[in-house]
Amino acid sequence: MLGAIIGDIVGSRFEFNNTSNFNFQFFAPACDFTDDTICTIAVADAALNGKPYKETMLEWCRKYPHPMGSYGGSFTRWIHSANAEPYNSFGNGSAMRVGAIGWLFDTEEEVLRQAKLSAEITHNHPEGIKGAQAVALAVYLARKGEAKETVLERMRDYYPTFTKPQLGGNPFNETCQGTLPICLGIIEISSEYEEAIRYAIAVGGDSDTIGAIVGAIAEAIWGVPDMMKPTALAYLPEDMMDIYTQFVEKTAK
Ligand SMILES: [Mg+2]
Repeated sequence: MLGAIIGDIVGSRFEFNNTSNFNFQFFAPACDFTDDTICTIAVADAALNGKPYKETMLEWCRKYPHPMGSYGGSFTRWIHSANAEPYNSFGNGSAMRVGAIGWLFDTEEEVLRQAKLSAEITHNHPEGIKGAQAVALAVYLARKGEAKETVLERMRDYYPTFTKPQLGGNPFNETCQGTLPICLGIIEISSEYEEAIRYAIAVGGDSDTIGAIVGAIAEAIWGVPDMMKPTALAYLPEDMMDIYTQFVEKTAK
């Protein structure tokens, strides 16, 4: 989960001001957590505590109504609507928030089922659900010890063609089907966590969300370097730290 949060924080200052510089400053004063972190925490809270995804998501997003980079337009209307019905989205929001599910459930079937439940509160379009299931499954397989190549082979069932990352070459695209192939292409050419995050940002596009998705998968494959953790956690408010601590305790081997 911290892998996704770091990707979001590192990418936050580049979402609307892309860089193609691979050697950018990793953590900078202008960084902050964004909607990707808030929604990741919300999904983790629901999964950890047996709470419903919809109400838990609404609770966290209403508590943090104006994050850096703000929420997408339709998601903002959902947060503030009385009924909060799903709106058939295939945006990459279902994929960026799902990482914790890959860690918290113990069979492939349950991971896929929970990923679907977490997605369809908003992203009930088949591509929205598929994006969430792919990321959760990748995290699950990697944390169970499958090799990167095996994880990626399974991902081809969802996205047969990955996009080869080119610095600055990725257009802004907020859909699952536009985002997942580049994220998987980044995992394919990377060999450790920081390298993957640097590619996630320096390809351009929806930087914080690509960072969050790549970060979730990269963490499960390679782990987050310990030296990054204190710097990253210092960006989180206390209530998010509480969920993170619960998550660490629950997933500690
Ligand atoms: Mg964001």
